[in-house]
Parts: sequence; C-alpha cells; structure tokens
Amino acid sequence: MWIFGLLLTIAVVWALAYWGAGTGMWIAAFAGGLAVFTVGANVDWYVALPVWGLSTAFVLLLGVPRIRRRYVTAPLFRQFRKVMPPMSQTEQEALEAGSVWWDAELFTGKPDWQRLLNLPPPRLSQQEQDFLDDETETLCELLDDWRITHEDKDLSSEAWQYIKDNGFFGLIIPQEYGGKGFSALAHSEVVMKLASRCITGAVTVMVPNSLGPGKLLLHYGTPEQKSYYLPRLARGEEVPCFALTGPDAGSDAGAIPDRGDVCYGEWRGERVLGVRLNWEKRYITLGPVCTLLGLAFKLYDPERLLGDQEELGVTLALVPRDTPGVTIGDRHVTLDIPFQNGPNQGHDVFVPVTQLVGGTKYVGQGWRMLVECLAEGRGISLPALSVGAGKTASRFTGAYAAIRRQFNVPIGRFEGIEESLARIAALTYQMDAARTLTLGGLDIGESPSVVSAIVKYHLTEKYRRCINDAMDIQGGSGICLGPSNLIGRAYQAIPIAITVEGANILTRSMIIFGQGAVRCHPWVLKEFQAAQNPDASRGLSEFDHAIFGHVGFVLGNVARSLFLGLTRGRLSATPVDGPTGRYFQQLHWMSAAFALSADVAMMTLGGSLKRKERLSARLGDVLSELYLTSAVLKRFEDQGRPEDDLPLVRWACDNSLYHMQESLRLLFRNLPFRPLAWLLRLVVFPSGAPYTETSDNVDREAARIVLKPGDARDRLTRGIFLGDSGQFRQQQFEQAFIQAAKVAPIEKTLREAWRSGLLQSKTFAQQVEEAVSEGIITHSEASELEKMQVLRHQVIMVDSFAQYGKQYALTVQRSDKPAIYAV
Ligand SMILES: Cc1cc2nc3c(=O)[nH]c(=O)nc-3n(C[C@H](O)[C@H](O)[C@H](O)COP(=O)(O)OP(=O)(O)OC[C@H]3O[C@@H](n4cnc5c(N)ncnc54)[C@H](O)[C@@H]3O)c2cc1C
Repeated sequence: MWIFGLLLTIAVVWALAYWGAGTGMWIAAFAGGLAVFTVGANVDWYVALPVWGLSTAFVLLLGVPRIRRRYVTAPLFRQFRKVMPPMSQTEQEALEAGSVWWDAELFTGKPDWQRLLNLPPPRLSQQEQDFLDDETETLCELLDDWRITHEDKDLSSEAWQYIKDNGFFGLIIPQEYGGKGFSALAHSEVVMKLASRCITGAVTVMVPNSLGPGKLLLHYGTPEQKSYYLPRLARGEEVPCFALTGPDAGSDAGAIPDRGDVCYGEWRGERVLGVRLNWEKRYITLGPVCTLLGLAFKLYDPERLLGDQEELGVTLALVPRDTPGVTIGDRHVTLDIPFQNGPNQGHDVFVPVTQLVGGTKYVGQGWRMLVECLAEGRGISLPALSVGAGKTASRFTGAYAAIRRQFNVPIGRFEGIEESLARIAALTYQMDAARTLTLGGLDIGESPSVVSAIVKYHLTEKYRRCINDAMDIQGGSGICLGPSNLIGRAYQAIPIAITVEGANILTRSMIIFGQGAVRCHPWVLKEFQAAQNPDASRGLSEFDHAIFGHVGFVLGNVARSLFLGLTRGRLSATPVDGPTGRYFQQLHWMSAAFALSADVAMMTLGGSLKRKERLSARLGDVLSELYLTSAVLKRFEDQGRPEDDLPLVRWACDNSLYHMQESLRLLFRNLPFRPLAWLLRLVVFPSGAPYTETSDNVDREAARIVLKPGDARDRLTRGIFLGDSGQFRQQQFEQAFIQAAKVAPIEKTLREAWRSGLLQSKTFAQQVEEAVSEGIITHSEASELEKMQVLRHQVIMVDSFAQYGKQYALTVQRSDKPAIYAV
C-alpha cells in the first residue's frame, strides 16, 4: 500500500512537471494527495492536524502571490541584485541586439517541430535567379583565380569594373537607391558561387554587402546620408571598407583606443561642428582601395559642445579617403589570398557631425549598431563561402576519387577514402541545410544573433574539416598549386574564415552559449531585466514571475530528461513518419537534456560560468548541434524527402547525436559540484550513452553519393560554378567523371576476365587489345576505355613551372624599428 502510494505520488509529480502544470494544479494535486494519505492511512487527528496546518502554511507561502513575494521572492531578489554584475546601458543594448528565433525553441526542452517544418523555405525571385545565371556566371568566368592569386595579386581591372558596373557592391541596397535589393538567400548564393571559383573575388564582393557603410546607413543613416551615399555605393562609385580592428583591439573590439574629440573645424571651406579623429587600424578589407572609410572610435566631448557628458562611447563615422590626415594604401599579404586588405591611420582628421553615421542621434551607440548589423551579416557571408568550399570539395574531390586509380581500382573504393569522402559530403549537406534555414529566418525579418554565431563558427569549422579531407584525398594534386588545382586556395583561405567576424575560439567559448543562455533561455533575460528595473517594486513583481516560471521550467526538464532518457525518446511525439521520425524523438531528448544541463551549470556556477569557457563551449556545442540537426531534418522535408539523400541525412544526424552526447558527458565530468554532476548524468543518461560514431555502412552509402553521377550529387552541389560554357578545369573533371561512370562496367568485365585467367597481358593497354581480340569487349567499348585514359590523364596531371621563385610584388614592408630592452 505504502509502495503504491509512493509510486503514485512520484508519477503525479512527474506528470505535473513534464506538462508544466500551473500553480493551481500543483495545489490541487497536493491537497488531493494529502487527503488520500489522511483517509487512506487512517491517520490520527493529532498527527493529521499539524500536517494539514503546515501544508496550508506552505501552500499560502508559495501559492498566494503577495505573501510569496514578501517572504520568499524579496530576499531572493535582494541577493540576486547583489551578486549580479552591474550592466552598463551599452552592454544591455548589445545583449538585447538582434532577435531570438528557432534557437529559443531549442532551449525549451520541448521544441515545437511543427513550427520548424512550417517555416517557408526561402526561394529566389526570377530576377535573382537571372542574376546568378547571367552576371554572376560571367563574373566567375572573368575571375582567373591563378592569375589573381599568383601573378597579379589582385583582381583584373576588367573584373573590378564588372563588379562595380553590375551592382555586386549593392546587393543589399534597396532598389529605390539603385541597388539590387536582394534577399539574404540571393546574396548568399552569389557569394557561394563566387567562392567556388575564386575566394579572392568572393571576399571582395562579400565585404561591402556585409558589415560596413552600406548596411550601417541602411539601418541608421540620416535621410541625407542615405540619398547621397547609397546610390553611389550601389553604382560602385564609392568603394567602402569598415575599420574597427587595430593593434590593441582585436577580439576585444570594445577596447579600441582610437578617439574622436568634438570640436569646431574647417570642412570644405566652412567652419562647422565636427569631430577631430586619431586612429590606427589594421587588417581592413578593401582598405587599400577604398574611397569611403567606415570608422569606429570612442567619442569624447571635452568642451561639452553636444551635451553635458564628456565620454560619449563608441561612435561610427564615414570618412572620405581623401580627407587630410588619412594614411591608407599599404597592403597585408593575407596567406596569398590577395583580396585588398591593409592598415590605415588617421592623424587629426576632421569631419563634420553630419559624417557621423545617423548624425548626432546615434552618438555613443556604435557598439549596439555593430552588434545588430553583425548578427545579420555574420549569418550570410562566411557561411556562404564555407558552403561554396564544401560543395567544391564534394563535387570535384568526389570526382577525383572516382577517376584516380591506385592498385588498379578507383581510390574512392578504398574504405579509408570512403570515410573522408562521407564526411565531406555529409558535412556539406549539413552546412547547406544550416545555411538555408538561417537565410529563411533572415528573409522573414529575423536577425538572430545566436544563430548567426552558430553558423559562423560551425560552418567555417566544417569548411576546414571538408577541405582538409579533400587535401588528403587529392594528395599531391591538392598540394601542387597552379591553374589546375581547384582546392589549394580554399585550403589556404581557411584561417581567414576562422579569424574574421568573431574569431572561432572566442565565438565557441564565449559567444554561442554566453549569449544563448541569456537570449534564448525563456527566463534568464527576464530575471536580469527585473533585477535592473529602477522601479524596485515592479522589478520584484517581474522577478517573482520569472523566478517561479524558471523553477517550473527546471522541474519540467528534470521530468522530461529522465522520461526521455529511460525511453530514449521512443514514446515522444514525432511530426513525421518514416526514416527520419526517430531523429525528431532523439532531438527532443537532447533538447531537454541540454536545457536541464544549462540550468544546472548556470545555477551552480552563476557569473563564474563566463570564465569557465570550456564548460560554456560544450553547452554551446550541444545547442549548435541541435540547430544543425534540425536544419538537416527540415531540408529533407522541404526537398520532398528524396530517398537518395537519406545516407547524408543519417550520417549528419548520427554524427551530431554522438557529438551532443559526448559534449554533455564531458560537461558532466568537468562540472565542479561532483554529486550534482553525477545526479545530472543519471537523469540525462539513465540507461547509458547510446550513441557512437557513424557506422561503416552509413559512411559507405554517403560516400557513394559523390562517387557516381546522380540527382543526389547534383542536389548536394547545386549553385556552384561548373564552367559549362567554356574550357574550365571544372569541365575536365566533369567529363572524366561521367566517362568513369560509363566505363565502370567495362572495366569490371576486364578485371574479372583477368582474375579468371581469360586475359594474360600485364599492362592495361595490352589487356584492352587482348580483350577485344578474345571477344570479351567490343571495339566501341575499347574506344570508350581509351577515351577514359585520356580524360583521366588530364585530370590527374598537375602544373609545373620552368621558373619558380618570382617573389611577391611587395613594394612596402612596414615594420617598426624593433625596441630592445635589457632584461
Ligand atoms: C584577413 C582579415 C580581414 C579582416 N577584415 C577586417 C575588416 O574589414 N574590418 C575590421 O575591423 N577588422 C577586420 N579584421 C579583423 C578581425 O575581425 C580580427 O582579426 C579578429 O577580430 C581577431 O582579432 P586578432 O586577429 O587581433 O586576434 P586576437 O583578438 O588577438 O585573438 C587571438 C586568439 O585569441 C582568441 N581569444 C580572444 N579572446 C578570447 C576569449 N575571451 N576567450 C577565448 N579565446 C579568445 C581568439 O579567438 C583568437 O583565437 C580582419 C582580419 C583578417 C585576418
């Protein structure tokens, strides 16, 4: 009887927590349980009375808002305000910049899958598609990557002009200002296609459409600034750059020492109110050729000309290149990917206040403006570039593995190569799915800062993984640079993608979970905001709502994690049937496990979690993998569930589930409060850790997709430059690849004949001749084999040069005189 009562109580509490019951339900269940206990156990009145009395007091304390606020919430609130680090207005604005979206749903522990599946997949307009098929294709043809990277160290003047004349610098500028007004999807497709042909060209086009004067003016510019600059930028009459980074401010960009002082000065013959600027910047893309510099600096008003404050904060200005005092033009050599990049300095440069982005209205708000614009741009440019590289590796390294033979078979048939090829293909599928999902969000008006950090970090890391695998597979043909090498420059460019727009270690360790925990968690930001509220009584009431919502949230996730862990998600609802249904259930389990683990980490470590970067990174990894996997499942549905793609879907999901599990296990192993960590592990993985790395069979099936022509391969690599309209290296790969598929059965016949002793000849050419004379293959089959030999030779050959050692056309080498101190 007692056992039954206990089990019933546990089941009721579990169910109430699982379904997130309100206070009323909890009280009713509690009273019901107590009544059953009193009557069922025939409790004496002198026991029942104090039990009921204490219970009533407990219910009143927690159930009546006024009493609860006074005796429970108020002391908690005071403590919370005391321990919470003070947050400046700027920090608060930066934290609140951008929006939350599907990432927040993943934080709930019970994602609404239907919401994900109902999101409309982004589509290109006819005008956008035409621009990709026409202007972008033409620009790709103009971008001779070898000449650009090895000989000219710059785009040709023809390519520069084409870019400017055809609106590539104005992709995001609305049509009313003479720009293209493209969607995020179209913008991304342009960059992706260019990246698959020439990374230097892609970066050149990418930067003016990302964080820079154009985007800043669109969001914050005054009407005069917009109508003057935006048409000039769209027409390519102005080449913009954006200068934030300097020698003393890299990742910690808020620490810029560059300053502007409000004063009167001379501007185009008139004495006006303005800012005198002094700065030193470096690594600025397009800087050496820009005509308009977007500049970030800290503004001071020592004479109080703008108001009553001296330190006004980070501010942004537009500085024409030819303004007296600007020194610009030197170049950095960025790993031989020669997009224009270099340092610049300003000494007592005067600009009027009308050159401040948004005028005086946005003085001191530069940091928030940057974070807001970055949230958008970061989700587009580098992900597009990364997917371009992944698709190139999938298509051409896959082709190479089918064409290149060693030990008398195509190398793609070796299990070792299969493992790497599967990774390239499936990661590319996953990257493209995440890119598309994110663009869909941007195109419906979201500006999700956490998601953009996720795709920036994970897509550039997967780009690195794909190209490293491609280099291993292609061996010497990946290493020997020259016009014939399709992946060498993508390999060299990896560290650039890793470093810019938020260096990756920092993004993983601090940003993804650090920002996600505050922005995406359903209650944490509300608690912060309540604690910051200057009206203490309102703050207390908001805090009361948030903190008890938070407690319910944690209880719900304990119940969910344990239940889903025991059943491994099997009983949870899935929005689809078929082979992917099970993945939705497993993601539900991981989402609950993540939400609970995040809360335990935050509650036990508080503010010090910020310094425990490796714990934060692991939580960020789980959130990221949840996002990436949900993108994969959505893509599969959006594309009509093509069965051929299933191996890629399986690989990506299995791999992500394994990584989520391992990240959680490492988190539990490193949480400082050991008993709690053990308990958490027991709740999350009550029946052990089920996931392993992808199986050999899944690897084989995924690799096969890029080893033979077919719809799945075309879908996977859609949108990259194939060079069909001319004699491009890409076409040599395509022809040889198609021929390899055509002759594969003939080669098999030949191989079997040789193995069974029907053929005696040693060399391939003699075997073919003998096979024809023995009637094993026909003349026409023999000529197909000969054609294959020619095409194969063409693909496996690498470039060689009569002269090697021509140095860079480096005319200026900046290096300060070394300071030597006695130590
Ligand atoms: C090719 C190129 C183009 C660029 N273009 C521009 C541009 O157009 N405009 C512009 O303003 N800037 C530009 N940058 C600057 C770029 O954004 C910075 O390089 C970047 O912010 C990192 O700064 P840093 O190189 O000084 O590295 P650092 O900030 O010194 O970082 C070094 C390492 O420390 C890590 N790190 C730093 N802080 C932490 C932390 N708290 N936790 C963990 N790890 C941390 C970083 O992740 C990195 O791995 C460009 C840089 C390059 C290389």
